[in-house]
Amino acid sequence: MTTALHPDTGPPAPAAQPYAYRRAPLTEPDWRRLPGWRDVTAAEWESAQWQRAHCVKNARQLRAVLGDLVGEEFYADLERDQATRATMSMLLTPQMLNTMDAAGTEAFLADPVRRYMLPVASDRLAEWPSHPRAARDSLHEAEMWVVEGLTHRYPTKVLAELLSTCPQYCGHCTRMDLVGTSTPAVDKHRFALRPADRHTAMLDYLRATPGVRDVVVSGGDVANLPWPRLEAFVGALLEIDSIRDVRLASKALMGLPQHWLQPEVLAGMERLAGTAARRGVQLAVHTHVNAARSVTPLVARAARALLDAGVRDVRNQGVLMRGVNATPEALLDLSFALLDEAQIMPYYLYLCDMIPFSEHWRPALHEAQDLQHAIMGYLPGFATPRIVCDVPYVGKRWVHQVATYDRTRGISEWTKNYRTAIESGDPAALERRHPYYDPVHTLPEEGRAWWARQKTT
Ligand code: SF4
Repeated sequence: MTTALHPDTGPPAPAAQPYAYRRAPLTEPDWRRLPGWRDVTAAEWESAQWQRAHCVKNARQLRAVLGDLVGEEFYADLERDQATRATMSMLLTPQMLNTMDAAGTEAFLADPVRRYMLPVASDRLAEWPSHPRAARDSLHEAEMWVVEGLTHRYPTKVLAELLSTCPQYCGHCTRMDLVGTSTPAVDKHRFALRPADRHTAMLDYLRATPGVRDVVVSGGDVANLPWPRLEAFVGALLEIDSIRDVRLASKALMGLPQHWLQPEVLAGMERLAGTAARRGVQLAVHTHVNAARSVTPLVARAARALLDAGVRDVRNQGVLMRGVNATPEALLDLSFALLDEAQIMPYYLYLCDMIPFSEHWRPALHEAQDLQHAIMGYLPGFATPRIVCDVPYVGKRWVHQVATYDRTRGISEWTKNYRTAIESGDPAALERRHPYYDPVHTLPEEGRAWWARQKTT
């Protein structure tokens, strides 16, 4: 049935919605508002070398940029965290720092990007700062290495960790076991093989394993690999007939878009994309943006430049974190900024993983289910991000795929329909249920008491 418009009254007023969509133009905040960068020119700002040379690595350097825009108590809070709890060392590009609201200590503490890139001691929970089942390498990726750095968890796809550094370090990094320099709280694992030998061994494995069709080329962040080495590795992948999908993982597309805008990098990407297209391989870039404010005109320009170079798609895999983006508004604002303004496809949102000292970030599973429900119907279906739980020994599962869920103790169980590399001889692998845990502080009193008893027995 159609409703005729009355000529005098016009179209009916739109229904009020829980989320009010409005197009928001991107903005690059003026870095010259920050005392330490008052004299930085646009040419310097857009230089990848300048950005890398002016990364902030400690409280002293942060103070040199922000000065007294934030109070001394903030720097002390930051140093306390770095000395006791931080699983990642500090490394912040000027591009990322510039997207934070530093107009006072309170605003800085509340800023969503600050909350995951510059964690401070007062952010963490005093009680239950870590889940009792939290672990370094919580996804057990190293256990599933078929050669050093090559995780074969799913039947047809692998993760290649080419390097263990990034241009920026995120406080919640899943690979905190391996990525970055050691902190007082975490002595990092080190690759034993030389990079060239590891890369050769990965390629040898893939040539000998035609059942693998999809390679995530990651790290760390591929933006930290000298371009000729990355191009050589991806070029070699493209020569393997069985490889049909190659995804390059780089948070730097957002944290250091200047890297991806360098002419030599774009020229190299054009060569790779041309080869991929001729061979019918889908070459994509996956990035990691968690907050709408991180999507700036420079980020959009870098994404567009990659698409113009022939990359098939640029997609976003964000991480769902309390205090950062765990509201319907924040997730929809982020998704629309990515999709409408930067041609980046919102794709996945992962529940923050169960690494040590991450409980203040981690949402409970039922909160993630509610968020998935709340964001349905606003974006096109192909651009509605799926909220997934990366279940140890299982892999990514949509949050509604849970098999059983004890809300009192916060224990969910998950199943899978394939064997990982370490289960080839295990007849029970497809029947086993794998647990995942909600943060204890989100549980009802009875559940918290149960976990307290587990601690003491
Ligand atoms: S960019 Fe990715 S790998 Fe690097 S620190 Fe952040 S989350 Fe970890």
